[in-house]
Amino acid sequence: MKKIPEKASAGPEILSRLADLRANDLQWRSGRVWAYVYPPGDDTEKIQKAAYMEFLSENALDPTAFPSLRHMENDIISMCASHLHGDQDTVGSFTSGGTESCLLAVKTARDWARKERGIKEPEIIVSSSAHAAFFKAAFYFDVKLVNVPVDPKTLRADVAKIQAAITPNTALIVGSASAYAHGVVDPIEELGQIAKKAGVLLHVDGCIGGFLLNYFRELGANVPNYDFAVEGVTSISMDLHKYAYCPKGASVILYKNRELRKHQIFTCAGWNGYAIVNPTVQSTKSGGPVAAAWTTIHSIGNEGYKERARSMLSATQKLCKGIDAIPGLKVIGNPEMCLIAFVAEGLSIFHVIDAINQRGWYVQAQLAAAEGAIPETAHLTVTTMSEALADEFLADLAAIMPEARAAKFGELAATFVPMAKTLSSADMSDDMIRGMLQSAGLGEGDQRAGNPSADVNAILNAMSSEMRERILSVAAGELFKQPV
Ligand SMILES: *Cc1c(COP(=O)(O)O)cnc(C)c1O
Repeated sequence: MKKIPEKASAGPEILSRLADLRANDLQWRSGRVWAYVYPPGDDTEKIQKAAYMEFLSENALDPTAFPSLRHMENDIISMCASHLHGDQDTVGSFTSGGTESCLLAVKTARDWARKERGIKEPEIIVSSSAHAAFFKAAFYFDVKLVNVPVDPKTLRADVAKIQAAITPNTALIVGSASAYAHGVVDPIEELGQIAKKAGVLLHVDGCIGGFLLNYFRELGANVPNYDFAVEGVTSISMDLHKYAYCPKGASVILYKNRELRKHQIFTCAGWNGYAIVNPTVQSTKSGGPVAAAWTTIHSIGNEGYKERARSMLSATQKLCKGIDAIPGLKVIGNPEMCLIAFVAEGLSIFHVIDAINQRGWYVQAQLAAAEGAIPETAHLTVTTMSEALADEFLADLAAIMPEARAAKFGELAATFVPMAKTLSSADMSDDMIRGMLQSAGLGEGDQRAGNPSADVNAILNAMSSEMRERILSVAAGELFKQPV
């Protein structure tokens, strides 16, 4: 087992070890990584890092201890509220990320339903395109999740089906603006109407799209209303660490009014320690993210964001057109957001992904869903680095098509794909799954970054989501198998 080192190491030596550790990481600074990182640009990065470091050690646990942090949080929430067409009643909280914002929206709705509506077992209705964070929230908070399939043609929320799913126990309906997988915006105005009529809450998950879509509309793009301008919307989540280009650890959850937000707040004055008030999940938290977010927004400004939006909208339009022009590839969903999902026709998209990633790009694989009604896709997250690289990417994508067409699945897929369809989690022990993972090369000591191979994706793709989840859980146990 590893021991805490007896002797202190010198700073430069440790930093050089850190540099070595990164050797296999995704090289996002190249702009060729279509996921995970939203490169802020050199000038913005410099100032946001400085701000983060200034407040690294300050603790936002107690809102009276560091009024500077409270001031910055209140500023951020107010700016976000006005960006999303809120009013003087709009309130919110700064959170660590989209997942925390979505968790809080569900927790608030649950407690609102219990207290204000006397509902003992509150339910939330989501579309199948909703982010995993809502499934997690239902799981964590023991709330019943009603999962309504999206319209398979538009990939957007099916309002009639959601209407039909409302029961006397419904606390909350969730819509996305936009959904992550296909970049599409749900019909929030129609959802607002049914939510209002039923007397239930409506949360808009604007984690990825909420910040940008209003800029896209300003630039002339066809974006439906999705924010507090829509009647019936009662809360919105919006990540700042995505398209507001703030460093990670920055999101907001906004509510129509204080009466709603009060159900989010946790207090504890009956233990032996100091009296606690936690509006959000965390207690002790660095002041870094809030200071860096405040700084980033001031540093880029509305004009800067609009220019960034112009660049990303233009890149998205070019990429969608370019991908559709490549025989065998097709963008699906007609995205309003700068998130692009495309399918392959007559070949496997997983071979396309393997081939393009071998050219130094990183494209994300999305597995088929809804028993194949939603096809497997390649996913691109467009950023401000994309405009300059779009032509090169499209040329590479066209160039790899012959090799992707010629690629064959290996023995691994030949063995496991046929049985994958019928595998159920109950038939498999953890040991059997570990064996499968090892034969797929995902065992100990694997240091490569990036997607699983086409073979592994094809196997996962053939499985039920229940089986996939089981495998992922065993895989996580292996990836974090301590001690050595
Ligand atoms: C990213 C995302 C989330 C979750 O946010 P994290 O910051 O990754 O926790 C929720 N909803 C949507 C639509 C997202 O894209």
